[in-house]
Amino acid sequence: MILKIVKYPEPVLSQPGEPVTEFNAELRKLAADMFETTYAAQGIGLAAPQVGASKRMTVIDLSMGKDPKDKLVLVNPEIIFSEGKLYEEEGCLSFPEIREKVVRAAKVRIRAQDEYGKWFEAEGEELLSRCMQHEIDHLDGVLFIFRISSLKRDLALRKIRKMQRAGEW
Ligand SMILES: [Zn+2]
Repeated sequence: MILKIVKYPEPVLSQPGEPVTEFNAELRKLAADMFETTYAAQGIGLAAPQVGASKRMTVIDLSMGKDPKDKLVLVNPEIIFSEGKLYEEEGCLSFPEIREKVVRAAKVRIRAQDEYGKWFEAEGEELLSRCMQHEIDHLDGVLFIFRISSLKRDLALRKIRKMQRAGEW
């Protein structure tokens, strides 16, 4: 089922997600629906707060549905190691048409649970590293436009207000 992606400034996007404690069929259905929603929106990652569920869960798939091995469900994830620096353009499904360069670690190691509650570790470099950091930020209520300069943020917010007024947001 394709879920509705909420856009900035929906309050749920700015709230830290609740830790997941129950690994049941409902959670797995939410993860499956989040993948479907990500593919439909042609994205590579989606965090539960973006579909209005204030939970610490995110899905990532750099292959956009082409390679099942790329599918990652991260529940209660944390970054346990990071190194290097990346400065690349980023977008977000909750900010259609807004793209900004964001500083991220070039490599991260994360620890998370899967949709059955099993803990695992995973490493990401380049795009995967960036995506992991962007999605984990969502679970802390941190949005990518708050990781850019206030000048650029003001310009982006102005663009959003203009689109809102035109009924395009
Ligand atoms: Zn995002």
